[in-house]
Amino acid sequence: MEAYFGPTIEIDLAAIARNYGRIKSQLSKARCGAVVKANAYGLGAEQAAVALHNAGCRDFFVATLEEGLRVRTRVKDAAIYVFHGFRKGQQPQDFIAHNLTPVLNDIAQIEAWNNAASAALHIDTGMCRLGLTPDDLTRLPPIARTVPLVLSHLACASDPAHPKNKEQLALFKQILNRFPGIPASFANSSGVALGSDYHFDLARPGRALYGITRGTTFPPDMENVVTLSAPVMQYRALTQDETVGYGATTVAKKGSVLATVEFGYADGFMRSLAGKVHGYAAGVRVPVVGIISMDMVSVDVTAVPAHLRTPDLRITFIGKEQPIDVIAEMAGTIGYEVFTGLGPRIKRIYI
Ligand SMILES: *Cc1c(COP(=O)(O)O)cnc(C)c1O
Repeated sequence: MEAYFGPTIEIDLAAIARNYGRIKSQLSKARCGAVVKANAYGLGAEQAAVALHNAGCRDFFVATLEEGLRVRTRVKDAAIYVFHGFRKGQQPQDFIAHNLTPVLNDIAQIEAWNNAASAALHIDTGMCRLGLTPDDLTRLPPIARTVPLVLSHLACASDPAHPKNKEQLALFKQILNRFPGIPASFANSSGVALGSDYHFDLARPGRALYGITRGTTFPPDMENVVTLSAPVMQYRALTQDETVGYGATTVAKKGSVLATVEFGYADGFMRSLAGKVHGYAAGVRVPVVGIISMDMVSVDVTAVPAHLRTPDLRITFIGKEQPIDVIAEMAGTIGYEVFTGLGPRIKRIYI
């Protein structure tokens, strides 16, 4: 295979494992699971699952049956819970043959599953999204006595002061009285940070594993996992003022040096970042100039020492210098959306 010089996402699997350890150390009695849905937030579910399994994780959560099957190819002796549950068109055998556990979300799913094998239950305590309602709980089939896990999801955990956290906690505790002796799971990453009242038997962190924090106003509690960089395709040393890119929105000055870089909105570099975002080249902060194109973007590399402006220069857009949360805030979104939006043609490299 030919050498690859295109855009890359370096994913530090050891950092994921260390973040898992950091979360685990905040739990006193609860086990620590891991959410690897949406291809581990775009970073690679199979690789992340293996690293987390090596770090001691034995409870994985995915969204769909297909995601569960992919994780199962790499992780044999662990529970894999499927959030979307048992869906139309699926057979119990699709789960049973691979020892996957559906998370049943309503009475119809419970009846269709019909005690085929063990399944978890999701109870809605305030998301108003998926899960059994308080009304559903009054007419639960007998399966509810034997499930291995009852879970619920917090709506506002990323805001520790939000009153909804305590309301959901009180409701979940009250509902758990109906499930004596059955393990419970409540906390996502932010739920872990809310303290031991929220931990129950099994935590389900996702974003913290991947180095996404609660936003730029919080100190980073987790280690950076991702470094995204892209190569320069061409340099432009301007001998006069020039407008750059579509719409001629920006004028670059005579004497400046521009680099055209192989990273565009088709790769998840959102157009809304134009005019705000920087890259880093050999440690130098380099502004993005003009509109972001589908497959490329212009960067002003005038400040990079001339001897470093070679065909081998790479521009880093996400990493320690410009963390995922900073990029996300500039784009008016959250790190989850940026990571899951990074395109498939960027090569993932695991270190
Ligand atoms: C995505 C998800 C999680 C993980 O949330 P993070 O905020 O990424 O820690 C946990 N539980 C459920 C039900 C989820 O959908």
